[in-house]
Amino acid sequence: MKKNTTMKHKVLKDIFGHNSFRELQEEGVDAILNGQDLLMILPTGGGKSLVYQLPTMLMSGISIVVSPLIALMQDQVASLKAQQISADMISSAQSRDEVDEIIQRAYDGELKFLYLSPERLNNQSTINMLRELNINFFVVDEAHCISQWGHEFRDDYRALGNLRENFPKTAICAFTATSTNLVTEDILRELRVENPLLLRGKIFRKNIFISLQRRVGGQYDQLKAFLSRHKNESGIIYVSSRKKAEDVSIYLNMNGYKSLPYHAGLPAHIREQNFKIFVNDRVNIMVATIAFGMGIDKSDIRFVAHMSLPKSIENYYQEIGRAGRDGEDCEVLLLFNAADSIQHKRFLSDIINADYREHLGQKIDQIYKYATSEICFHKQLAEYFDNSLDECSDRCDNCIDDSAKRQSITKEAQMILSAIYKTNQNFGKNYIIDVLRGSKEQKILANGADELSVYGIGMHLGKKEWFVILERLLELRILDVGEFSVLKLTNSAIDILKNKKEVLIKSSRLQIEVKEKKIKRDSELEYDEALFENLRAKRAEIATKLGVPAYIIFSDKTLKNISADKPKDKTAMLMVNGIGEKKFEQFGEAFLEVLTKLS
Ligand code: ADP
Repeated sequence: MKKNTTMKHKVLKDIFGHNSFRELQEEGVDAILNGQDLLMILPTGGGKSLVYQLPTMLMSGISIVVSPLIALMQDQVASLKAQQISADMISSAQSRDEVDEIIQRAYDGELKFLYLSPERLNNQSTINMLRELNINFFVVDEAHCISQWGHEFRDDYRALGNLRENFPKTAICAFTATSTNLVTEDILRELRVENPLLLRGKIFRKNIFISLQRRVGGQYDQLKAFLSRHKNESGIIYVSSRKKAEDVSIYLNMNGYKSLPYHAGLPAHIREQNFKIFVNDRVNIMVATIAFGMGIDKSDIRFVAHMSLPKSIENYYQEIGRAGRDGEDCEVLLLFNAADSIQHKRFLSDIINADYREHLGQKIDQIYKYATSEICFHKQLAEYFDNSLDECSDRCDNCIDDSAKRQSITKEAQMILSAIYKTNQNFGKNYIIDVLRGSKEQKILANGADELSVYGIGMHLGKKEWFVILERLLELRILDVGEFSVLKLTNSAIDILKNKKEVLIKSSRLQIEVKEKKIKRDSELEYDEALFENLRAKRAEIATKLGVPAYIIFSDKTLKNISADKPKDKTAMLMVNGIGEKKFEQFGEAFLEVLTKLS
């Protein structure tokens, strides 16, 4: 046992470059070394890959990894190769000859890892081929795809249920970042695992600061203010349609940013090209639809912005999870308003299966509730995934600064409700705001709205403030939206009008302008910034030469560690967290050269 422990730590440092295990990693590694089935639920960036990669290095056979996306597999294979570990993949992207060659290498015992797409396992010839190999264990990555209650259900993942039957003696290890209790039960049942070790990490991603604002008027102003906090950093902006991806990207490029669009409407080769340019840091912003999904392993993404409400908390959590996989601080922003959830619900009417339609409807309600709630966002996410967490206190908008300050907007609410009532509940948001602000627009005057007692009584607030208050009334179900986006009063509106109830809003929510906020940086490390930039440039040069993503060589965090420690020779370099023998052999000297030149 002692020998095993020493070996584990040696492999951890020499091959993977890490000085210590992260939470739950060692327990997972031990289970695999003991041949036990495993389900590990660990947030994105938690370090799941290491849990199956490390034991493989201590075992004699080959580990088979099932992964839902070619991009994911390519990334993992490239990353293993950078550590001089033999790995390859079989997917629909390869020719017959290429596949034959890979299979031959597997037969010859030359591969430690073989990545397979799930549809391959539906195929009897693949099963026969696998039977000839000395398999350590199976890995099912992104295991939530097997569950219908997850958000990324994939039909071809169903075939994985046959693994146990075909390979009764081989352990199955499943991994996912997002799993509610319902999804967890589904995974265990579908994979038919036996007495598995269930390891569930804390859902809290402390290095992510969660920001959230109601989207008002010129939405790009809010985005620009956010981006000004993240100059030259890598980030993703999620939008709801292909056209928006193009529009936002053009807008940003015209305003001095460097961005590219990514969506399913682009030809595959352009998508791939844009992806590569982003991954190699030649453009720092990707404006994407959800098509830019699971395959994104770029570890130094410093921000993720959503321009509208995602369709579920699972989607949102996965998408924001792409930020800060390297453990460094990052910020995510959600811009949304009530119209987003109404729009999502409209699309549901096309779904024939009533249960499924209802299920998706609930998911939209849950994310809308999350966005409009004034409870700590991290806590809400943890509870959604059946975890528990105290309020983060300083890692989300709901917790920072004036967390306790609320103000009354009862008077303004009454003005809005009266205006809606006096215009016979026949108009939408803009019209009501125009009435309150005494607009001289033709449609207002033509209807005689300027003769109403409510006309012009709301001059003390700007259009945007009124918009936020209206949104708050929708959230609290004091208002409802009818056909043609017409505002309707609900029963609660009567209580407000009769002064029986107050309407409150968190003061920070009423502030529309994005104030310069000081986000507390948790893992602040003192390092030489000029040196860091030089090391990054060296990394980009090597990455371009080798045709691999820059972060596969060294993560930003590792480069920062080097810029802090300033090692002078190999021994000192190997002490840096993130650098192991294998990586040093390939890249160490090139980086040492930069260090000596600048010292
Ligand atoms: P996940 O698959 O859970 O999202 P990854 O396996 O991609 O996470 O790991 C995320 C990052 O964390 C990678 O950059 C990886 O090198 C790093 N990492 C993994 N384990 C450790 C560790 N024990 N110490 C330091 N960094 C680690």
